[in-house]
Amino acid sequence: KKLPVDPSEEPGVRQVRGACFSRVKPQPLTNPRFVAVSGDALALLGLRAEQVQSDPLAPGYLSGSRVMPGSEPAAHCYCGHQFGQFAGQLGDGAACYLGEVRAPPGQDPEMLRENPSGRWEIQVKGAGLTPYSRQADGRKVLRSSIREFLCSEAMFFLGVPTTRAGSVVTSDSRVVRDVFYSGHPRHEKCSVVLRIAPTFLRFGSFEIFKPADEFTGRQGPSYGHEEIRGQMLDYVIETFYPEIQQNHGDRVERNVAFFREVMRRTARLVAQWQCVGFCHGVLNTDNMSILGLTLDYGPFGFMDRFDPNFICNASDNSGRYSYQAQPAVCRWNLVKLAEALAPELPPDRAGAVVDEYLDAFNSFYLENMRKKLGLLKREEPEDGTLITELLQTMHDTGADFTNTFRCLSRIPCPAEGDAEEEVVRAATDLLLEQCSSLEELKEANKPTMDPRELAMLLSMAQSNPALFQMISDRSTVARQLERLGRLKELTESSREQLRSKQAEEWTRWVGRYRKRLALELEGQSDERAAEAERARVMDGTNPRVVLRNYIAQNAIEAAEKGDFSEVQRVLQVLEKPFSSQPGLELPAWVHGGGAAARAERE
Ligand code: AMP
Ligand code: MG
Ligand code: MG
Repeated sequence: KKLPVDPSEEPGVRQVRGACFSRVKPQPLTNPRFVAVSGDALALLGLRAEQVQSDPLAPGYLSGSRVMPGSEPAAHCYCGHQFGQFAGQLGDGAACYLGEVRAPPGQDPEMLRENPSGRWEIQVKGAGLTPYSRQADGRKVLRSSIREFLCSEAMFFLGVPTTRAGSVVTSDSRVVRDVFYSGHPRHEKCSVVLRIAPTFLRFGSFEIFKPADEFTGRQGPSYGHEEIRGQMLDYVIETFYPEIQQNHGDRVERNVAFFREVMRRTARLVAQWQCVGFCHGVLNTDNMSILGLTLDYGPFGFMDRFDPNFICNASDNSGRYSYQAQPAVCRWNLVKLAEALAPELPPDRAGAVVDEYLDAFNSFYLENMRKKLGLLKREEPEDGTLITELLQTMHDTGADFTNTFRCLSRIPCPAEGDAEEEVVRAATDLLLEQCSSLEELKEANKPTMDPRELAMLLSMAQSNPALFQMISDRSTVARQLERLGRLKELTESSREQLRSKQAEEWTRWVGRYRKRLALELEGQSDERAAEAERARVMDGTNPRVVLRNYIAQNAIEAAEKGDFSEVQRVLQVLEKPFSSQPGLELPAWVHGGGAAARAERE
């Protein structure tokens, strides 16, 4: 079909029309070798870690340097809305499909429930140029590969839906990377992650059929080939949502049910992110899995000190993808998916489903948070407030997100003969250990904008608010102002004053929490058993370890020097995030936040 030319086409970048895949050849690496493998992920493919590690050809095969018999490598063509704007054709610029592996017999039945296709797509990420690489080289380096590898596996073991990572391979091939913090180019080793998922199809996969965008003038490269969209939709529903396919004879009703299930899974996923303090960083529609999996680990971050405005992506100036923005931004992404599915999915029906999103998110979030606080036996209307107050107190006192939740199971339910004051004091002391010191809070609240620039913006805001709104990003400035205010407050207070303010806040919250805990025991014949059960659920929901940035950074720096043992050790720890087994402990300083940890660091 003759199609209008997309005005946004970059010179030298070919639009791939009427197809959702391009055949490619992965580029071989020089001397590929393993940095680490995940035995648990490889088992999905019927591979054993020891077998793979002792096979001299395995690093070649698992990095795409050697092509397996029967494999037909391909790169996927997708589009996406990036930072709120339709970006046109994107596609697998560095990733490459190798094919599918049928799940070997003897798998956990739970696995088949989550992946009814019974097979796994495998991909190599960093395997070189594809038709979608644009100006980039299709390569990945140790930094990005180790982060993706460790975090995929960490998320899985935290119980958060995610794509998996089977191995990281490094090599003697090199690419030049301009490391933003050093400011000068660096030759880095090419590395490849083996990714595994039921499918890597995403919201953006359906956006290749988009008509010209009213703002950017861009259109999907396969606009006019809508019959492929029908095939792709059929494939996704039949293969990954077979129950929906079976239960709906009517095509429109089937499509609505499918969209509702994607909405539900997305809401559940974001609720889980919020509950472990995970920030994805690049929630563009091309990074939204059609199965509700965490997809594409780039500048992600787990929060240390709780901050609802936490932004882990250095290029996200407006905070579009901040921690607290994630639930709303995923709803926005669902709206874009619905638009891409029209008229297969009638807009009015889609709108009704999107309207259910907030309730779905809230109910997943509340359910998960109740477990984190050990509120298991009943639901009270004030539970939401208790949770909000906990988060507010964490924010005010600069408390560590992971460690604060982890220590809540050590606050007992009120029992007869309790010396209430003593229990509350002990609980407060425990929570204070997770708080930041005055120096740490001052550091955390320093405005990130240049002071002169900030002063200029402030004077402009006062003299011409309308102009100011037009040329500056208000949310950035608002955040900077908030920081400035807090910094001033902190500068005027002493260490002791801060400590007693933090103690006061925590004492108040602990009092409320204990009142709510008392209700947990009402009508329980065996209070000790109920308490033990509560601690068990809480410690199985509040992880002791997450992949903090500096844990990953440590492992990366060692690996760049040729020592891969830290990557392997960190993986081992992250495989048991809820365990308190000795021997799996990370060094104390790694836990961040607490007073004990600070003493250790000093
Ligand atoms: P992301 O922000 O990671 O979702 O990537 C956005 C787009 O850039 C996708 O189309 C990627 O395939 C592409 N891309 C990312 N890294 C590379 C790379 N090293 N080489 C080529 N394309 C890339
Ligand atoms: Mg991506
Ligand atoms: Mg990426």
